[in-house]
Amino acid sequence: MKVLVFYSGGKDSQAALILSIERYGLNNCTAVFCDTGWENPITYNHITETCKDLSVKLEIIKSKKYNGMIDLAFKRKRFPSTKARFCTQELKIIPAIDFILNQNDNLLIIEGIRRNESNARSKMNAECTYFKYYFEPYDFDKKGKPKFYTYRKKDIIKWCEKYNADKLRPIFNWSAIDTINFIKKKKQDVNPLYYMGFSRVGCFPCIMNNHSGLKLIIENHPEQWNAVKAAEIGLNSSFFKPDYIPFRFRTGITSAGKRYSTAEDIERYIKGKNNTIDLFDTETPGCLSVYNLCE
Ligand code: SF4
Repeated sequence: MKVLVFYSGGKDSQAALILSIERYGLNNCTAVFCDTGWENPITYNHITETCKDLSVKLEIIKSKKYNGMIDLAFKRKRFPSTKARFCTQELKIIPAIDFILNQNDNLLIIEGIRRNESNARSKMNAECTYFKYYFEPYDFDKKGKPKFYTYRKKDIIKWCEKYNADKLRPIFNWSAIDTINFIKKKKQDVNPLYYMGFSRVGCFPCIMNNHSGLKLIIENHPEQWNAVKAAEIGLNSSFFKPDYIPFRFRTGITSAGKRYSTAEDIERYIKGKNNTIDLFDTETPGCLSVYNLCE
């Protein structure tokens, strides 16, 4: 049996990786990183260094169809959004499924997620199977018809006739502090981005970044923020949701005459708010995909 630990460079998956090596042995474990091509260099470095320190094998998987987030947006002629989160699907879920189907072995798949991270995550289980929603419905339509996942369904059914893909969330009941303490106790440290004020790591920025996280990017990571602005100009579309900031601050106008928030508008708004942002901002939920590949 092979143990695959999905590792994003965030503290929870890091703790799950360390724990898995202890439980299942170094030679049975592989860290798997889904690279969106849109992470902070600090995260890429953290992933490489922590895996080197643990001497664990690291597999970096990428979309075969898209060369990262910006290429995906240009090919789709729009940025992903909370309602159309094709970034998670194309850059993480599909490469992960393709990778799993190439494994000729029974798998134990480890996810470092915690129940108290969000309401959606609190409803999950600590154990299940990776391809669960190919065999049981994840939802029902208005007429009561069950909905199943469909990507490479035939291949998945065939693969599952030979192999198992069990999923475990070993730190499901841990708190954020338990996670950090565990990492430190094991003589590692968390991603330096946490010390810079970020509460999540992952796409930099993520389409769902809240105002306080984005403020840190605008002020301290101009190269990444300039990349957002350049992509918006190239695509003539907004990276964040149209109502990301109040109406009177929005200057973008769609062909249908609707106003939206451009990156320039957001920068002006966020800089103008100074230190009051944290008081009024509400935490944006993280990725809600059942595969939980976005921290
Ligand atoms: S972290 Fe955000 S932008 Fe990146 S894939 Fe997930 S939802 Fe999309």
